[in-house]
Amino acid sequence: MKIEVKDISRTYKSKSGEVQALSPTSFTIEEGEFVCLLGPSGCGKSTLLFILAGLQDASGGEILLDDAPVVGPGRERGLVFQRYTLYPWLTVRENAAFSNHLQANTKGKSVGELFDRISRADYLLNLTGLEQFASSYPAELSGGMQQRVAIVRALVNKPRVLLMDEPFGALDSQTREEMQQMLLLLAKHEKITVVFVTHDVEEAIFLGSRVLVFSRRPGRIIRDEKIPFQNSADLQSKLTPEFYKLKRELLDTLHQASGQEDGESNRIAMLQNLVASSENQGIQDKQ
Ligand code: ADP
Repeated sequence: MKIEVKDISRTYKSKSGEVQALSPTSFTIEEGEFVCLLGPSGCGKSTLLFILAGLQDASGGEILLDDAPVVGPGRERGLVFQRYTLYPWLTVRENAAFSNHLQANTKGKSVGELFDRISRADYLLNLTGLEQFASSYPAELSGGMQQRVAIVRALVNKPRVLLMDEPFGALDSQTREEMQQMLLLLAKHEKITVVFVTHDVEEAIFLGSRVLVFSRRPGRIIRDEKIPFQNSADLQSKLTPEFYKLKRELLDTLHQASGQEDGESNRIAMLQNLVASSENQGIQDKQ
């Protein structure tokens, strides 16, 4: 599904005044791309994702999905959040097949349709290694497993776009890598377009076929990077010189964008001097 973001901006009104979260932002995502929105915390990434999901209004601009304007949430867009959002009173299988506004999803559906959902949920639970947990409740699962269920749930409707807001942010690094691999393969298998919010440079390069780097608030795109090596879900790719080089470049872009580079480099230089002089002092004392 092609996504066109045209001059989307967002200003929040709060008691202490107006906060501009997002500068007018435009970009186009082609069908099948895996685009990571990378930027410092608070730069408006989640805001943009929620506007894409139709869960929040923009202050200006419009979004087109295959030429049709976004006016609210829709089945063609699946969502996965950072926080675990499973219903605790439903089993894994029930969460995967029926949750997400349980009533709305099951009301008016034919028995055949409901069976379709169950068999697709079972298929995806198998694919993600969750079949033996199908009758478990969310509280019995680790955070990584819960996020797997959340991904399965988002995919059950056969969305054409998967919108993900730092879904692996709360996971330990080993689980996080496993989830990244699984997601890459699932996205290819399901042939869906993915928009993935993260503040982690390595995650963005590993997952994305393209990375949009945002400045700090009010967010605007400061770099649009097509990832030159194809993400094969091979963890070894993180160890290649090209990967390191791009990681350094994107980190530098983020540092520059934060506008604190000079102050921060001065502070580091001062600390380096302090450490060097105390080491010198130590050598002199020994002599
Ligand atoms: P990110 O996802 O990049 O961390 P967000 O989109 O969550 O950033 O937030 C962008 C900015 O907008 C932040 O400074 C945040 O405090 C502010 N913000 C987000 N939601 C609201 C809200 N409902 N009311 C006021 N300010 C908000």
